[in-house]
Amino acid sequence: MTLLNDILTFNEEFVAENKYERYITTKFPNKKMVILTCMDTRLLELLPHALNLSNGDVKLVKNAGAMVVHPFGSIMRSILVAVYELKADEVMIIGHHDCGMSALNYDSMLDKMKDRGISEDTISTLENSGMDLDKWLTGFSSVEESVSHSVKMVKNHPLLPPKVPVHGLVIDPKTGKLDLVVDGYKA
Ligand SMILES: [Zn+2]
Repeated sequence: MTLLNDILTFNEEFVAENKYERYITTKFPNKKMVILTCMDTRLLELLPHALNLSNGDVKLVKNAGAMVVHPFGSIMRSILVAVYELKADEVMIIGHHDCGMSALNYDSMLDKMKDRGISEDTISTLENSGMDLDKWLTGFSSVEESVSHSVKMVKNHPLLPPKVPVHGLVIDPKTGKLDLVVDGYKA
């Protein structure tokens, strides 16, 4: 049995037995907020429970590190869609301690890519065409600084309505404890 088959088999039963019924809601968030957080496995259930969030409560965007790296990338686009099209009135960015992105090291990832069959040629072609892989594949040293930086990126975005608060927090991936880094109401 593959993982894919496991999932498909379970899913058939899930649908057939109407187990989805308790999750029925709308695409508009009950708590008018969009949250950007990290894809870390420890946060999958912990984060919603620690914040008292149920299905339908918020728009949730995830990536590696809860980072807004590019002002016109897919994360910022998702936040703008949530604000303009889906009635999210506040933005919350939640990084976490012990994040994989805080340890991300380009040289070590490059070695792994080569081990998995990516050629030197491919790497140098990308670098020669202006792709700064080193910068792209480097994480952050302080999660608080990273969260503050992402908050600024969103708050100062030319397309974000000026009155939308952007909060920054850090969550403990074990206990779910939140620490406030930026109070968007005061910014
Ligand atoms: Zn993380």
